[in-house]
Amino acid sequence: MSERHLYIHVPFCARRCAYCDFSIAVRPQVPVHEYLRGLRAELALRAPADKWIIDTLYFGGGTPSRLGPQGITALMTVVAEFATRAPGAEVTMEVNPEDVTPESAKAWIDAGINRFSLGVQTFDASVLKWMHRVHSVEQSTLAYDTLRSAGANNISVDLIFALPATLNRDWREDIEKVLTVDPEHVSLYGLTVETGTPLQRWVDRGTAVPVGDDSYSQEFMEAHEVLTSNGFDHYEVSNFAKPGFRSRHNSSYWSGAAYAAAGPSAHRFDGTTRDWNIKPYAAWLEAVTAGTLPTEGREDLSYDNRATERIYLGLRTTDGLSLSEVSDLSTVHAWRDAGWASISNETIRLTAEGWLRLDSLAADLTLSRSNF
Ligand code: SF4
Repeated sequence: MSERHLYIHVPFCARRCAYCDFSIAVRPQVPVHEYLRGLRAELALRAPADKWIIDTLYFGGGTPSRLGPQGITALMTVVAEFATRAPGAEVTMEVNPEDVTPESAKAWIDAGINRFSLGVQTFDASVLKWMHRVHSVEQSTLAYDTLRSAGANNISVDLIFALPATLNRDWREDIEKVLTVDPEHVSLYGLTVETGTPLQRWVDRGTAVPVGDDSYSQEFMEAHEVLTSNGFDHYEVSNFAKPGFRSRHNSSYWSGAAYAAAGPSAHRFDGTTRDWNIKPYAAWLEAVTAGTLPTEGREDLSYDNRATERIYLGLRTTDGLSLSEVSDLSTVHAWRDAGWASISNETIRLTAEGWLRLDSLAADLTLSRSNF
C-alpha cells in the first residue's frame, strides 16, 4: 500500500499547557534551521526515490505556527523535495492564535497551506489562564479574522470540554460563540488527566477535580445538538464539519489508509505495520543528523489486530462499519434498540449516544468476534 498522506510533526511550543502530554520542545527561540535540517535528513531516509504523491499533508505539533512565516515557507520547500502534492491536495497546519499576523497568514497561504486548525480551546479568559495557554480570547478572535482576511476559506476551531466544575466554564456560551465565528470545522477534545502533566499534579494535590461521566456526557450531547442543528455534520466522534469540509487527512487515518510521517514522535502506517519515532527533540535530531532512522518502535499488525482496528475505526465515524465485520448480529441489534446505533445498507453507524460508549461497544464487538 503506497502512502498518499504525509504527517510532519513540529514539536515547538512557547510553554506546556497544563493538560498536555504531547511530544513537544519548549523553546523561547525556535531553532528553525536546525529543525528543518533534521527534517530534511529524515525525509531523505524515508521518501521513495521517485517521491511520494500525496493527497493530504498535515503539519501538527507542538505548534507548527511557531516556525513563523519564513519557517513555514521553508518547510514547504523541504517537503516538496520529497513529496509531490496531487492536484487539489489538502494542506493543513495547526496554528495557535498568538502566532497569527497579517504577514504570517499571507505567507502561509502563499506557501500552499489551504486548511488551518486554530487552537482556541475556550473563549473564557480565566479558563485560558488556568490551562496555561499563552494567548488571550481577543487574540483568538483576531487570529481567526486575520486568517479569513488573508483568504483562508477552510478553518477548523479546536475546543476543550469536560473541564473541572470549579472553573465555572459556560460550555454553551463557548459553542454559541463558535457559531458566531462560523468556521468550516470544529474539533472537540474531552479533557483527560494525562500522566506527568501539571493537571495530574493538581488532581493528585486535590486542587483540581475531574468532572464525572454525567457532565462529560451532558456537554458532549449539548455540542452535538447545537452544532448539528446549525449545519454541522457530526461525522466522527470528536469532529464536526460543514458540507464538503471534513478533514481529509484525519479521515485517511480513520479509513485505515497508509500514511507516511516524519518528525519527533511521528507515527506511520504502511497497511500492515505501524512504527513511530523517538519522542524527545534532541534525541530525534541526533539520530537523523547521524544519518540513522529515528524509529523508536514498531508493531506488526496481525490479521486479528487489523480486524479489531477496523471495528474501532469504523464505529468512530459516520461512514460506519460493514455488517460483514460483525459476527454476532444480536449485539448490534441491541445497540440499535437502545438508540446507540442505526443500521442501514448493511452498515452499522453509532449515534452520538453510542459514541459516548465507543470504547466499550467496540470491545463488545471485538470480544464477540474472538469468540466466534
Ligand atoms: S500548544 Fe498544543 S502541543 Fe503545545 S503544549 Fe499546548 S496543547 Fe500541547
